[in-house]
Amino acid sequence: MARYSRNDQAGVELPKAKLNRESLGQALELFKYLRPYRARFGAALLALMAGSVLSLAFPYLAGRIIDGVMPTAGAGSGHLVGADRTALLLVGILALQAGFSYFQALSLATAGQRCLVDLRRDTYARLISLPMSFFAQRRVGELASRLSADLIQMEDTLTTILPQFLRQSILLIGGIGLIAATSLKLTGVMLASLPVVIAIAVVFGRRTRKIWREAQDRLADTATIVEETLQGIVNVKAFANETYELQRYHEGLGKFLTITLRGARLRAAFVSFIIFALFGCIVLVLWSGAHMLERGEITMGGLTRFGLCTTFVAGAMGQFAELYSQLQKAIGATQRVRELLREPVEVETHLGPPAPSTLPRLKGEVAFENVSFTYPSRTGVEVLHEVTLAAAPGQRIALVGPSGAGKSTLISLLLRLYDPTSGRLLIDGRDARDYPLTELRGQMSMVPQEVLLFGGSIAENIAYGKPGANQAEIEQAARQANAHDFITKFPEGYATLVGDRGIKLSGGQRQRVAIARAILKNPAILILDEATSALDSESEGLIQQALETLMRGRTSFIIAHRLATVRHVDRIIVIADGRVVESGTHEELQALEAGVYRRLAALQFRD
Ligand code: ATP
Repeated sequence: MARYSRNDQAGVELPKAKLNRESLGQALELFKYLRPYRARFGAALLALMAGSVLSLAFPYLAGRIIDGVMPTAGAGSGHLVGADRTALLLVGILALQAGFSYFQALSLATAGQRCLVDLRRDTYARLISLPMSFFAQRRVGELASRLSADLIQMEDTLTTILPQFLRQSILLIGGIGLIAATSLKLTGVMLASLPVVIAIAVVFGRRTRKIWREAQDRLADTATIVEETLQGIVNVKAFANETYELQRYHEGLGKFLTITLRGARLRAAFVSFIIFALFGCIVLVLWSGAHMLERGEITMGGLTRFGLCTTFVAGAMGQFAELYSQLQKAIGATQRVRELLREPVEVETHLGPPAPSTLPRLKGEVAFENVSFTYPSRTGVEVLHEVTLAAAPGQRIALVGPSGAGKSTLISLLLRLYDPTSGRLLIDGRDARDYPLTELRGQMSMVPQEVLLFGGSIAENIAYGKPGANQAEIEQAARQANAHDFITKFPEGYATLVGDRGIKLSGGQRQRVAIARAILKNPAILILDEATSALDSESEGLIQQALETLMRGRTSFIIAHRLATVRHVDRIIVIADGRVVESGTHEELQALEAGVYRRLAALQFRD
């Protein structure tokens, strides 16, 4: 099971053996995304290595230039010519190195970004294909922000950290090799202080990493607050709770700041330590070198070469702790992404046009047989108990009952957002689980209580029911849904933008867009979640008419909140406490003396 919950993550140090062979091996699994771009990536790495090796030519040749002009190395203009040549060679090498560097940076960025685009696409595809139970157990806003942070971290790793790591490794090893060849004694002096620096760097690196994780968790918390607030902005305003929300956000930011500042202090200490330690090393080496020069144990050029190499080695060492902690972060990031990619999906999602359906059109016969159900997120509370009900093709079934009785849950099972804990759901006599999920849902349609319109034109919103539908089909559906008239009254007609950046449609208009969407989809099974709020009678009439058109010839389930609208359905199923308690036509149920329906109806029709 993936670990996305806040508690799992908050400040919890991942197991210490994080950067071991196993974790690295697992992280490398994601390298399969690099496969299509491996030639480019490989060439970039080769260029990087070549560039790094050429960097080492700089101290080496600089030493030669100096030795060439030093009187001790034997006077004469021949040496000066040698120095000129060496300098020219050095310029040539620098130019070559610049070329490699350009090629490497560009190729790495190209391969890395392409690979990340693929990974982002697959992660998103996986995310939207996960079953409802996955989302029920997590705060989705937090998950989204964390995932995006993880992907950014991986992008950084691929395009910056990994190449840096390679480059610094080459500089470190090559640099040490060069200085060892120049003077073993001086190398000994320099390396004597190395273990201390590394040990301290590792300890710092670990602590910074832990703090970084905590800071990310706190930041994710604040992102969740912003998202929740903006999603429910109407509620926030209606309750005049802006100050409360601001306070909540401010507190979240305060926690984030405390931790970030703690990290900053640690980092500042780390950086100053590294500067002190490394420059201390250089002073030590120069001091010993000066004495050796005096004794003639080293040439001036040798000492210059040594000094330059030492800055390379010192620079590499200084960066290693940081790179190491970045690599650990990257492994943490790949772990979450890999876990997500491994979560079982309810249906595989692919790019491209949907495969043509192999499922013949359903008749629309639906039967629940002894269905019991418990939400995976609330085990221990059975929401539906042994529900049995059947709908013949084309029948209209109304589900009524008190709030929380289980009507929406029953519909979730029909849509196969969840599967029954026990019992069976049969569609056209066959277990619903035996159908390909996408194709099954392709023959169902839902007109929800709260219609969600996407940012885009009205035409696009209607076409959501049948991606690729042409304008004539869209208009025909809109006409049948009694939506054509109000749409054409907008100056831009079907191209009118709705959603966040467009105009806002009224509740009744949104309903009709949703009905047009459903008509276009032409489902065999229809689900209507009746709007609880009453519309004005004209709107109501138009919607009822549109619904009549929509329901014709389809098996329809209506979650009815207002009993007035269900008088003429074929059968009313009364659900209470997760059980079917009554079932029959309006007249039959009215005739039941102490019936639940009769009581509900009496309450509704009282005034
Ligand atoms: P209403 O008419 O108010 O919409 P309903 O009859 O549709 O109510 P359901 O939404 O099906 O009732 O809820 C039935 C029970 O299941 C309730 O006790 C509810 O708290 C619980 N429930 C609903 N959704 C979930 C969920 N995702 N996870 C856990 N429990 C849930």
